[in-house]
Amino acid sequence: MRVINDIKPGCDYLKDESQLIGNADKIYFCHNTNEIEEVLSNCYKNNTPITIQGALTGICGGAVPLNGVVINLSEMNNILGMNYNTELEKYIIKVQSGLLLKDLNHFLKSKKIDISNFDEESIKGYNKFIKDSSFMFPTDPTETLASIGGMVACDASGACSYKYGSIRKYIQGLTLVTPTMKLNIERGKYKYSDLEHILKLDGSSLPKWQAQNQDIKDVAGLYYDDNMDLIDLIIGGEGIFGVITEIELILIEEPKVQAGVMLFLNEENELAKFVDKLRNNESKLFNSGIAAIEYFDSNSLKLLNRFREVNQALKKLPIIQDEFYGSLYLEFHLDSSDELDELLMDILEDMNEYGINEKHQWLGIESSDFEKLKLFRHAVPECVNILIASNKQIDSRLNKLGTDMSVPNDQLLNTLLMYQKDIEELDVSSVIFGHIGDNHLHVNLLPNTYRKLVDSKKVIINWANYITSCGGSVTAEHGIGKLKKELLKLMLKEEDINSMRKIKGIIEPKGLLNQGTLLD
Ligand SMILES: Cc1cc2nc3c(=O)[nH]c(=O)nc-3n(C[C@H](O)[C@H](O)[C@H](O)COP(=O)(O)OP(=O)(O)OC[C@H]3O[C@@H](n4cnc5c(N)ncnc54)[C@H](O)[C@@H]3O)c2cc1C
Repeated sequence: MRVINDIKPGCDYLKDESQLIGNADKIYFCHNTNEIEEVLSNCYKNNTPITIQGALTGICGGAVPLNGVVINLSEMNNILGMNYNTELEKYIIKVQSGLLLKDLNHFLKSKKIDISNFDEESIKGYNKFIKDSSFMFPTDPTETLASIGGMVACDASGACSYKYGSIRKYIQGLTLVTPTMKLNIERGKYKYSDLEHILKLDGSSLPKWQAQNQDIKDVAGLYYDDNMDLIDLIIGGEGIFGVITEIELILIEEPKVQAGVMLFLNEENELAKFVDKLRNNESKLFNSGIAAIEYFDSNSLKLLNRFREVNQALKKLPIIQDEFYGSLYLEFHLDSSDELDELLMDILEDMNEYGINEKHQWLGIESSDFEKLKLFRHAVPECVNILIASNKQIDSRLNKLGTDMSVPNDQLLNTLLMYQKDIEELDVSSVIFGHIGDNHLHVNLLPNTYRKLVDSKKVIINWANYITSCGGSVTAEHGIGKLKKELLKLMLKEEDINSMRKIKGIIEPKGLLNQGTLLD
């Protein structure tokens, strides 16, 4: 394993995309599960705190170390094997947790890999896979530099979770290394209640809690249901139980047609009603053909125009006219181009009634145009993060103030109006974009002074109070990390948070792993 002993201030491994900056004495770049076991057990003997890092694209500071040592997984990035599971009728691919999403996607597209280290079953699975049609991994958090382990630890979603849900459904197995044990957890092999004999607990009953709301998009706190599989406790656990070293992912067949359209909004528009129209249509095409419904407000469009002057990649996008009040990106995953034509006709038919501009749309049917739409989708959050980093140069206290809240369907319009009214009163720059199909918008407040930062934080607390009072969540996909614990306390009962602390203490009694992340 590689080790960095001399960590200079400003070192990239002391921060993530939230721009929160931490401290550490040492960074271990492990290469396999055995090395992780060795580091964890030594740290445990010496009572040294350990922070786990994937690719550091997280935006809540979860992987930022407060002290002690870091286990960084970026050099543990191999594809270990694959097989065809006849029971599930699915391909399962086994990877080391530091593998980047972009590298997984590249393999799935090219089907090319060095199989000299594959075992016999994997070679058989691979030979079947290369002759078969195309397959994909459906979780797409737009940030393809994220690691698979980080995505599992955060129960990541993305634009297409409107159709596919979060990563949880696509995890068939994982290896968890805690400071005191290594556990291979296959889905279906252990229930949560099996922890009693795995850990040889002496009759002490395992805690229960109420947290994530299954009716909305929600990752706040640890997952729980009465009959849950043990793997579901670890997925979305933000690394507080141990290091996920290897993961088995379920692949799905790639849709034959993938396309997108960017629609632009007039000043007078009925965005929320249009979104309702799309999701309330019960026809099969609407139900399973729409993969993503994403919103970008007018400031997002202005931001892209501004950044295209300095960013070569963005120059590929057409200039966006100033007159538009935002845009709506729809992505389609379908079986045929006839289906696409039919769906597009139905969607576009009466859009002017909702204030969607009839004359100006960007269609992404050819793959090069579709890629441009995806570039647009990814560029907005990236530009926001660059802006925040540059504000931080002016005043180091200016951290990211981005929300990740979701609400039930009937609260979408009220929530949008609340955001708009409060932002106007606050008088700070803002950019709103995100997964409107799941009632899940990222509101980014960009205060340029410390005073405005303080005011903005108060407004976010008010939003969290409102949203939790109407059955929403304070975090739908990014997790709690180190920056959103206050919001978790607004959302969950103290007794439920205490139960989460209890299960953390049962699995990792010294509390050395990922200190300050998710729970205090
Ligand atoms: C531009 C941009 C867009 C984004 N869009 C989305 C989006 O649409 N949807 C979404 O869900 N997220 C999104 N994210 C957030 C981020 O990409 C995800 O949270 C991602 O899952 C983090 O992966 P990572 O490897 O970078 O994890 P890190 O940031 O390194 O870590 C995140 C957390 O996971 C823990 N962890 C990491 N690896 C492991 C492991 N192997 N074992 C145990 N714990 C581990 C860390 O300790 C930490 O608590 C976006 C980020 C950016 C910068």
